Amino acid sequence: MKDSYGRDINYMRISVTDRCNLRCSYCMSANRVFNKDILSFDEIIHICGEAAQLGISRLKITGGEPLLREGVADLIKSLKMLKGIERVTLTTNGVLLEKYAEAIYKAGTDSVNISLDTLDREKYRNITGFDCLNDVLKGIDILYACGVPVNINTVLMKGVNDDMDILRLAKDRNICVRFIEMMPIGEGRAFEPVPNSLIQRGQRLDKKGNGPAVYYALEGYKGGVGFISPISAKFCADCNRIRLTSEGFLKSCLCYDRGEDLRGAKDIKGALESVIKDKPKEHCFENRALITEKKDMNEIGG
Ligand code: SAM
Ligand code: SF4
Repeated sequence: MKDSYGRDINYMRISVTDRCNLRCSYCMSANRVFNKDILSFDEIIHICGEAAQLGISRLKITGGEPLLREGVADLIKSLKMLKGIERVTLTTNGVLLEKYAEAIYKAGTDSVNISLDTLDREKYRNITGFDCLNDVLKGIDILYACGVPVNINTVLMKGVNDDMDILRLAKDRNICVRFIEMMPIGEGRAFEPVPNSLIQRGQRLDKKGNGPAVYYALEGYKGGVGFISPISAKFCADCNRIRLTSEGFLKSCLCYDRGEDLRGAKDIKGALESVIKDKPKEHCFENRALITEKKDMNEIGG
């Protein structure tokens, strides 16, 4: 369905839990209290069925850490069976991938984004609070071997991981490393973004995918590099998404607290329609005083 600016809204991100087994310094505070009343899988499937009737054809399962929730692969399988749903993808920190890679593959997951900011064990521990880089790397190997398309999503921080050693993952495998600029949401407010324009390199490729990433080929690399630049190259004019929080609040834009509680809604399709119609023209990250969203990224799902 089109929003009031003529944008085709066909993509919904769903945070299936706000819990996480990591504490990335830019995402959520170490002493976070988690929501108790999150959506059941049946509620999520019902909402997605209604959304599909309005033209939502792509779903992203996210969190918190989605693989902490038992049965996520079954959820993906059920969502893929809904009429009108064309793609179901997953975003994970990869810590539990070794255990779930095969189930994710068998569920028919169309692609998996793995969030990983460094290949240095000490830096990983400092960023995430946990020493489990090797688990993530093993998980990536297994998922890649299954044949599931894999992207790596990396948030750069000045003086922390801006050496971009993560690009090594794209050297010998068809894996795309995508750099996402830090956004002033949640703990991210304390960080200064590294503008993607400063690090863009390689040969620009034609637009691919349905999202905001711009892709480049790197000489000598089998995989590619992508840039998602909400701060330095605002892409709101092409925004195609809405976001469902773990508690069932449907958001029209990352930046604002505007939206509707679908759980309390008698008419879910009507509520979806009104959130899409109310989608603002653009985010306001450049003017922090206008940001109304108070939630952390783990509740929203990124
Ligand atoms: N736990 C899963 C993961 O890390 O992929 C899924 C949820 S996580 C909130 C989704 C994405 O949001 C991750 O790629 C993470 O790096 C990104 N993220 C979190 N806080 C951010 C911020 N302030 N700015 C930009 N990206 C952020
Ligand atoms: Fe957890 Fe993902 Fe947030 Fe890191 S970015 S704390 S892995 S939800």
